[in-house]
Formats: sequence, C-alpha cells, structure tokens
Amino acid sequence: MDKGLGAGIGDRISHFQNSSCSDGVQEPCIWASPGGARKIDIGKQIFCNRSLNMKNIVAVGFDMDYTLAQYKPETFESLAYDGTVRKLVYDLGYPEELLEWSFDWKYMVRGLVLDKKRGNILKMDRHKYVKVAYHGFREMSKEEKVEAYGNTLIRDAFDEPDYALIDTLFSLAEAYLFAQLVDFMDNNPGKDSKSTDYVRMYKDVRAAVDLCHRDGTLKQMVAKDPKTYINEDRSIVPMLKMLRESGRSTFLVTNSLWDYTTIVMNFLCGSHTLDGGITRNSDWLQCFDVVITGSAKPGFFHEDNRANLFQVEPESGMLLNTDNGTPMPQVGDISPGLLLKEKNGTCRIFQGGSVGHLHKLLSIESSSQVLYVGDHIYGDILRSKKVLGWRTMLVVPELEREVELLWELRDLRKKLHLLRNERDLIEDQIHHLKWSLKSEGIDVDEQRKMCTRMDDLEYQRDKARLSHQEAQRECHQKFHKVWGQLMKTGYQNSRFAHQVERFACLYTSQVSNLSLYSPDKYYRPSEDFMPHEFEIIPL
Ligand code: IMP
Ligand code: MG
Repeated sequence: MDKGLGAGIGDRISHFQNSSCSDGVQEPCIWASPGGARKIDIGKQIFCNRSLNMKNIVAVGFDMDYTLAQYKPETFESLAYDGTVRKLVYDLGYPEELLEWSFDWKYMVRGLVLDKKRGNILKMDRHKYVKVAYHGFREMSKEEKVEAYGNTLIRDAFDEPDYALIDTLFSLAEAYLFAQLVDFMDNNPGKDSKSTDYVRMYKDVRAAVDLCHRDGTLKQMVAKDPKTYINEDRSIVPMLKMLRESGRSTFLVTNSLWDYTTIVMNFLCGSHTLDGGITRNSDWLQCFDVVITGSAKPGFFHEDNRANLFQVEPESGMLLNTDNGTPMPQVGDISPGLLLKEKNGTCRIFQGGSVGHLHKLLSIESSSQVLYVGDHIYGDILRSKKVLGWRTMLVVPELEREVELLWELRDLRKKLHLLRNERDLIEDQIHHLKWSLKSEGIDVDEQRKMCTRMDDLEYQRDKARLSHQEAQRECHQKFHKVWGQLMKTGYQNSRFAHQVERFACLYTSQVSNLSLYSPDKYYRPSEDFMPHEFEIIPL
C-alpha cells in the first residue's frame, strides 16, 4: 500500500471485492461473504454495527408497515399526498389551487429535518451542522445558512417542537407538501393570511396526514387493491419458516390494527391463486407465535407501560376480553389460559399491551435474547434498544441503490479524494509561504521569488478547488439531485447515518435479506478506524 496516499481509505468500503474489475470490465457488484461460503449481492447484505450472535437470540420480532410490507412510494405516498391536499382544501379552508399540485415522490428523502418556524428543509451531518438547506424549494446561500444556523455557541438540538424529523418513509409526502406550501405562501402573501405562519401550516399538514392514516383514506384503498400499493415479496415466508425451523420464536408487533394487519399480511404471506389473486385464509398466522396489533410503539417498549392487552378473535376482529368489562390482567399476570394455548402451537393475536406482556407470552428471560426488525429509528429501534436492551435491525430500502451507486462511482470517488488531497496540499504550501514571507531578514530578490511562487500556488489552488467542487457536485447529484448521499453529508456521516450507527445493531435494505444468512450467524462489525489510522490501514 502507498503510505502517502490516504485517499479513499477513509471509506470503509475499501474491502470491496474489486479484483474482478482489474481489467476495467464492469462486473456486477458482488461481495464475497465472510469465509467465501456464498456470494451475496452488495445491495442485499446485512451490515453490522455491533456484534450479534444469532445463537443467543431466542425470538425474532418484526414491525409490519415499511418493514415486512414495503409500500410503493409512487402510489402509496401519492395517495397520502392527494388525501392530505383534499383535507387541507375542503376541511381547513386552504386555497383550491392546491388541488392542481402534483407530488414528486423522489424529491424528499429520509433523514431531513423541517424547520417549522423558518420554512426550511435541512440536511445535516452527524455533528448537526446544517450542510444542505432549502427554503421551500429554493436553495439557501452559504450566508443565509450561516445566519440561521451558524451560531456554534448556541447549538440547536434540531428536535421537536420547532423541528420535525423526516425519519420514516410515511413522512415524505408531508415534507414535500410543506415545501410547496412555503413557496406558495411566500409567492402569494396575503392570499391566506392565517397560513403565512409556517408553524401553523406545518401543524395543518401534520393533522391532515394523521387523519388520512386514521379515517380510512389510505387503508381502504390499500385493502381494495394491495398489489398497487405494496411490493410483493415471496421470500418473506421462507425467511420466517427458516427462523422458526431454527428454533426461534417469531412475533409481529405493529401499530396497525388487526383488520388492516390481516389484509396486508395475507397479501404478503398468503397463497397466491393462479389468476394472481390472494386466498384469504390467514395462513400467514402460521408464521408467527404471537401477533400484537395496535401496539402504540414506542410507548409499547416502556416496561412501566400499563396498557391493557386484549385478545383478538381473528375471524371477527372482536376483542375477546372486553365484553364483560374485565380487561386483560396487567404485566406479570398473564392468564394461564393464554399461556396454555402456546402448547398447541397456534398463533395468539392481541391488541395493545406492552413489552412485559410479550416477554411473558414468549417466555423471554432476558431482553438481549430478542432481535427486533423495524423501519423507524424512533418508533421501532431507538426505544427498543435504548430503553429495553433488545437487539435491533433497521430496514433501509434506500440502501440497496445507495451501495450499488457507491460501487458504480468508485472511480469518481477515488478521484474526488485525490483532488481533495491535492487542494489541501496546495493550501498548506500557501500558508507556509505566507508565514515565511513575514519573517525578517529575507532579501528583496528572495522575496520576489517567493511572491512569484505564491501567485503560481494560488492559481493552482483555485484550479484544484474548482475541480474538487465540480467532482463533489457530480458525485452528490448522482446519489440524489438535491440531497446527495443518504448516509453522508460531504465527507461526514449524515445525521441519519449517525442514528443508524448508534441505534441499529444491524441494518439492511430488505427484511428478507435475513434468509440469505444462516439463522445461527455471528454478525461482527467491521473494524473501527480513527483518523490517525487511515494512513496505515493493513489491507
Ligand atoms: P408499523 O410500522 O407496522 O408499526 O405501523 C405503522 C402504522 O402507523 C400504520 O398503520 C400507519 O398507517 C400508521 N401511521 C403512520 N403515520 C401515521 C400518522 O402520522 N398518524 C397516524 N398513523 C400513522
Ligand atoms: Mg413500520
């Protein structure tokens, strides 16, 4: 290895198996799995932040929406967008022009932060420095960014209530509508005086989106035609079967209620008929030991949560233990009848309750024996890991394209790092020279030579800066024309990446990627590197 060339090494993808490309031929990006046992497409790999030995896991749990069920944003989020616009116009008195607006479902990305007061959309790095900022759809200048967010002494937490985090794919439509409304209100002052206040506007959008989720606007449409809104994934059932055959319990904990859950799960796991339909026989329940619907995560994860647990009758969807006015007993007092049912192997279905109930139902002795797979950093992953000590896996569908692009753009990224090094080197030389010029005792001749050299260096620096900026912009836009790479802002990890690193033991693009690995796999993280180690990494 060239010790002087740190370029590119900082990326932990230096262990790409790129030998097959040494002749310049583009090969599909395939990783050799550790041990070389089988090859797994890079977009389907499971990445590890913290060691996790699956042998210690006795129960694997799943969230449903955007974890097992991958919605198609182009249809599902458009539905949410259209429903929200209608509510704003017809229920909240927003101008009718909104009905003509359209939704670009690719524009917003996860990890963005809405500044409700200023009407800005921000992308920040792991230190919470705002790196990309738009006011509505207008890019903010460097000066505007510094003015609004540059005060390093008063570090903003960038959290609720002044900011809203776009941390689930469910939020993409509302973020887009917020930006549209900011632009609209800026361009039409006085058109709707009550809405010139961005905070108020955000509140209205949030309330309308919330209602779309609750009043059936979305769920009725999905129920009528799940195929239009949800990706089919035939590998979910084999994955769940594999886990169960390996001796693990499996469970589902979703905030969706039973009627919707069974429609979605039937679509994902039910038998498909020859004409492309789905049989509705609740076969999917055979894939789980326990199903908890209406779980009210993240509150569900608090051990002192006293929410009642109700048993659900699958045919009618009725809650069984409410009719005589006696709700289910509290945590630690599960009725023996429920526990007995476990023995005949049928799935038990509930609504509500808390993690204490779940541990009892599955006979979990220690929370570290549970792996929970979810899509929402706050709702599924942060609380379950931090409060409870469950092991966690985050599903990040965007990752598949992101890692494929990392692979495709490896040459451009290498060039980018070289340009950065070159620029830094020239800047260092300039600073040294400037310093030397200040020293006493330099004769006029020498001074003149140094000045000529300075001119030359400054010319080179400007050129290097420009080339670097252009390469950086090109790279940024290949990932996303506005927001760049999901997991990076410039050379730093993005705030989203930082959260993934802190809270998710594992992360991957699709839940069914679990089926590509042994259920007994020992997941181990890659080696950490401090900046001083990058120059001397053994390859
Ligand atoms: P889970 O991800 O399986 O726990 O389910 C998420 C549930 O929350 C789905 O039923 C969504 O429709 C629902 N949901 C997502 N966003 C909102 C919201 O803003 N308000 C109310 N429900 C929501
Ligand atoms: Mg979810």
